[in-house]
Amino acid sequence: MKFCPNCEVKLKKGDSGLQCPKCNYVEKKETNQTKKTIQEHESQFNVLAENETVQALPTIKIECEKCGNDEAVWWMLQTRSADEPTTQFYRCSKCRYTWRNYA
Ligand SMILES: [Zn+2]
Ligand SMILES: [Zn+2]
Repeated sequence: MKFCPNCEVKLKKGDSGLQCPKCNYVEKKETNQTKKTIQEHESQFNVLAENETVQALPTIKIECEKCGNDEAVWWMLQTRSADEPTTQFYRCSKCRYTWRNYA
């Protein structure tokens, strides 16, 4: 039960919330929708994304020398020294073994 802060009359339910029948004071409905569940979900997604970025990389038909799987994701990486060429990396989609292409 809520009372009007102005005239201490019992508030009645109106269209826009609790309303004082005497002075027309309106107490708006509380919007206490917690965003906690969404935040938890987002942080979970971020952790996942960091570890699973490989999933977004293109795949190539190449044999993994560790497990014999014939599919790997690949990406290019420029080494620190500008003289060196860009290195191509492969990662087995099955056992996650990573190797580089020196060709
Ligand atoms: Zn009032
Ligand atoms: Zn493998």
